[in-house]
Amino acid sequence: MKISQLLKQDTLSLSFEVFPPKLQTNFESVRIATQRIAKLQPSFMSVTYGAGGGTSQYTLDIARNLKEEYNVPMLAHLTCVSSSKETVHARIQDMIDAGIGNVMALRGDIPAHLEGAERSHWDYHYAIELVRELKESGADFCIGGACYPEIHPESGDQKTDIRYLKEKVDAGCDFLTTQMFFDNNLLYNFLYKIREAGITVPIIPGIMPITNAKQVDRAIKLSGSFMPQRFKSLVDKFGHDPAAMKQAGIAYATDQIIDLYANGITNVHVYSMNKPDIAAKIQSNLSDILGK
Ligand code: FAD
Repeated sequence: MKISQLLKQDTLSLSFEVFPPKLQTNFESVRIATQRIAKLQPSFMSVTYGAGGGTSQYTLDIARNLKEEYNVPMLAHLTCVSSSKETVHARIQDMIDAGIGNVMALRGDIPAHLEGAERSHWDYHYAIELVRELKESGADFCIGGACYPEIHPESGDQKTDIRYLKEKVDAGCDFLTTQMFFDNNLLYNFLYKIREAGITVPIIPGIMPITNAKQVDRAIKLSGSFMPQRFKSLVDKFGHDPAAMKQAGIAYATDQIIDLYANGITNVHVYSMNKPDIAAKIQSNLSDILGK
């Protein structure tokens, strides 16, 4: 099932993101965790891809397993920046062979050891090049791209970021998924600006439930996201108490999703981080709204 088709519904649906194991020894535990999330029958699931090799080989194994066992539509991530054309073309062919019709086309982060390196000889520089190759592959992929309500950390200004985003969408993205954010007003502001810039594809907001205090610093470092005072107070109050923090973080994410739906957004992607209990709790908090 193409994700672009799923996004046409006018009632709320949730999708969940999982990540593949780093090592073969963890494969079984990740498979079990992701299967428990698939049992919730989300609208679709995405499986991330390790930019510098590492976990990349398991992305399709996990995606194929969930699709075959639970019939959940799958979105496989693929990055390009630290890969050769040969590797990327092989991965595209693997997706075709596995019957995965939805691809999240990403640049990937520049590996630390290549920061500042001469880039002219690299096979890929930006996600748009991967989007073009997916279109040229001849397979009928539904293609997603990433977007950043608080601008991409390497971008100088939002106008330029949105100009490049428009070029990426025009190259063939069918939808965009956002980086995590903790203040919905930032998303509404971003939506206004990208619509004004002529980007009309569906936008799927990405919501990260922060369920332990340690995650806060990591999330800010990774995404550069703004932490509203309401969220900081919650971490101050509950950060030392793991069970309370988990409950409060899930409630905060649930509240964000309800507000998004109340403002007309019908698919929300939850960064569920291979945690079935968190995915299930968010889903059960929304059971009447979701009709599940
Ligand atoms: P791009 O769209 O290429 O943009 C990167 C930067 O380059 C931006 O600053 C943009 O403004 C700029 N730019 C774009 N085109 C041009 C141009 N022609 N000239 C100059 N500048 C330009 N990483 C992983 O490794 N694996 C994953 O599975 C993964 N999943 C993700 C899922 C989502 C929803 C998001 C939001 C991010 C994900 N990432 C993942 C992280 C992502 O790889 C990084 O944020 C990366 O730094 C940028 O990737 P991109 O596809 O957005 O890049």
